[in-house]
Amino acid sequence: MVVLSKLFKDGLEKGLQCSDLTHSGSCKQNVTLNTYKFLISNLKYFAPVIFLPLLVHLRSLNKKMLKDTFQYYIGAVAAGTTTGWCIMAMICLLRHVFGKFGYYTTAFLPSLIGSFATWAIPSPKVHRLYETSVFQCTIESFILQRKTMLTKLIAESKLLRTFIFMCCSSLIMNAKQEKSYRGFWLLQPTPTTTLVHPKNQAALNEEAEEESVHLLKPCSHKISSCVRYALQGAKTYFILGLTLDLIKMLMSKVATSEKGFMTKLLAKTGNFKIHSCALLTTYVTFYRLVHCYFNRVCGADTKLNHTAAAFLSGSSFIFYPKLTLFCYALVLGIQISWQHLEVYLSNEHEDAFEWIKNIPFSKLFYSLCLAYLVNTYCLRSRYVSGLGATIINGITNNYAKTINGNIERIEQQLASRSPSL
Ligand SMILES: [Zn+2]
Ligand SMILES: [Zn+2]
Repeated sequence: MVVLSKLFKDGLEKGLQCSDLTHSGSCKQNVTLNTYKFLISNLKYFAPVIFLPLLVHLRSLNKKMLKDTFQYYIGAVAAGTTTGWCIMAMICLLRHVFGKFGYYTTAFLPSLIGSFATWAIPSPKVHRLYETSVFQCTIESFILQRKTMLTKLIAESKLLRTFIFMCCSSLIMNAKQEKSYRGFWLLQPTPTTTLVHPKNQAALNEEAEEESVHLLKPCSHKISSCVRYALQGAKTYFILGLTLDLIKMLMSKVATSEKGFMTKLLAKTGNFKIHSCALLTTYVTFYRLVHCYFNRVCGADTKLNHTAAAFLSGSSFIFYPKLTLFCYALVLGIQISWQHLEVYLSNEHEDAFEWIKNIPFSKLFYSLCLAYLVNTYCLRSRYVSGLGATIINGITNNYAKTINGNIERIEQQLASRSPSL
């Protein structure tokens, strides 16, 4: 294995042109051609990412929801195309400015500068999608590298991952119930009128009036029987999980030389696993039963009951302890904890905290994380998860994959010339 610094000194910095590493043809041609290629790649990548979560709301789907989702899709595609395009253009530009591919100017600096293009799309929802995905993949990359004691422990211990997931589950489910977090999560919490986030008081007044009749009962769900309520959740999430597992199976790749739709489909059935189905069904059933049980024991639906139910039901993660899902929960958990800290500091130390609130931490972290992620993928793709690679290549039409392939090829050539390295 060639050491990266050696690779850049002996290989990449020695007068390599763009055509040796990033693209064929001239830089101008490449930038023009890739504009529409990036657009098509983003359209393809974001279609399942944005439209599949609609499955959860299939029964309550309406015109407004479809319109909002379509606008969200267009915003995500525009942000991806612009960001990918800027990074690609910066790679060429920096090579021309410095006259060579340097350690930081090949992928890190172009991605850092290009990341600011994401903010050109004025949609907080799109910004949240990009931030969450990039933070999630960066944490996953750190865990995959196992360079610290903590990341090593998380990578090797299912129990530790499950415990952290349980903590995140309680934070996320509470935030969903208070409506301070409206993004995607595996479960929809039982609506309640007793937990109201201060920011959403006005918005919830109407709902509170509608559901005030349920305040007299220990549980706030509309179905009269708790067991029936849990079974209804199990049925809905069983179908949803099964659909997701089927989609995953259909999208999986199979190594078969034979052609034909049916032959490939039969080969793919071997990849069918009921992971999502098992996780979602257990999670929702456990959550609803435990929550109802606590409500009945205490005689009322309290925040503590809900937190405990969401925490305990998070243990179903043990059935499907996937690192990608763990990192998603962890990012949401950290974001929600930060929100709580902001509210606390604003209330307790309003003057002293005011200047910190104005620093765009998430934007700064996003740029650094994106630059780190693209740089790691281009130089050492094995340290980036499958999801990270799919996102990077989906947005850049496999541009990063080409750079990584060329770097590995140059690395092999150098290694064959100097076997001692
Ligand atoms: Zn170029
Ligand atoms: Zn109940």
